[in-house]
Amino acid sequence: MTEQVVVLGAGYAGAGAIQRLEDELDATDAELTWVSENDYHLVLHEAHRAIRDPTVEDDITIPVGEIADRSTEFVQATVEGVDTEAQTVALDGGEDLDYDYLLVALGSQTAYYGIPGMEEHALTLKSLDDAMEIHERVTQAAAEASRNDPATIVIGGAGLSGIQSAGEVAELRDERRAPIDVYLVEALEEIMPGQDSELQGAVRKRLEDADVEILTDDPITEADESTIHFDEGDPLDYDVFVWTGGITGQQALDECELENEHNRVTCESNFRTSDDRVFAIGDSAIVDQGDGPAPPTAQAAWQAAEVAGQNVARAINDQPLVTWTYDDKGTLVSVGEKAIAHDVDVIPIRTFNSVPAKFLKKFVAARWIADLTSWPRGLKAWDSL
Ligand SMILES: Cc1cc2nc3c(=O)[nH]c(=O)nc-3n(C[C@H](O)[C@H](O)[C@H](O)COP(=O)(O)OP(=O)(O)OC[C@H]3O[C@@H](n4cnc5c(N)ncnc54)[C@H](O)[C@@H]3O)c2cc1C
Repeated sequence: MTEQVVVLGAGYAGAGAIQRLEDELDATDAELTWVSENDYHLVLHEAHRAIRDPTVEDDITIPVGEIADRSTEFVQATVEGVDTEAQTVALDGGEDLDYDYLLVALGSQTAYYGIPGMEEHALTLKSLDDAMEIHERVTQAAAEASRNDPATIVIGGAGLSGIQSAGEVAELRDERRAPIDVYLVEALEEIMPGQDSELQGAVRKRLEDADVEILTDDPITEADESTIHFDEGDPLDYDVFVWTGGITGQQALDECELENEHNRVTCESNFRTSDDRVFAIGDSAIVDQGDGPAPPTAQAAWQAAEVAGQNVARAINDQPLVTWTYDDKGTLVSVGEKAIAHDVDVIPIRTFNSVPAKFLKKFVAARWIADLTSWPRGLKAWDSL
């Protein structure tokens, strides 16, 4: 019997797993179907670049046809639900898709934590369209502002996406000599919460050097159409407000019976979920790593995809599954044209910046594109990364 294998999502997790599955299933009687809402892979961890320069689009989007073999059927559709009992995936405007084995790699969506007004008034950054909209809104606000009355751009949440977005807005301000004030606000005591204090300090310094105003240790309690309200501090009027303060699972998994936490599917370290026929990886999943889950990062999704692809093939062939252990290879953060590297494998200096960090950050992103396509494609993107 031909096994129907379906992969949902074309991010790091989905795209990486498709390529691994194509190799692994070569000698198996199986058909591979790949479903995603867009017909391209977005290098999401560089999406903030488009806030400054929308022309990076071609370099950070890779058509699925350049990633998958012709034997893989690609379906461009929005997933609306997964029925594990019937073994079907509901798609918008189409028939349900049957599966024998399913790999959920749908990524995450922005979490609002019930903060009044946040969902209605804040922009988000989870797609290329989001980045383009932020670019439009920032440039429009700058055009309507003056030196005496600058535009106020506020980024809420100081994790990787918030910090890097604030860095791009600051760089755009400098390149265009635009009348813009940039704020980065964080509820917790320090930016990059939970990270090493040396890294936090280095990133803070870079942001301050870039004239980003950092407000920490004061949660946002409400946002209305022009003002952000804090628990303690004075309200802050804004022209553009971008919220990057957290992630949650996809709404498409609302009704799904798989065990989950806020729609992020819980799974073992071999990516198997509460249903033997379903695997989950990337931001869509909470992957048990003993001490805690793997982090929701591109780095983790990229690593996981290799092993998940292997394990789906092993499950089909009744072979024991492989256990995955997340290997933290370090952190790379950009602040506009500058970058900071921390705890990077094989490099003896703990935290460094300037040219080597910038080179490393570009190299890692280019290598991802090269892994998916080819080195010429990866190197062509170099200036956009
Ligand atoms: C601005 C920014 C900067 C970041 N910087 C870094 C960084 O420096 N380092 C790092 O490691 N991580 C970084 N991250 C986090 C990283 O991008 C994510 O952890 C990573 O993208 C997760 O990969 P994924 O494949 O699970 O999900 P995604 O890359 O989000 O892919 C999900 C896929 O599913 C598709 N999809 C979603 N919902 C549906 C649906 N209902 N139907 C059909 N298709 C759907 C999407 O279109 C997409 O193709 C950053 C994130 C952002 C937003």
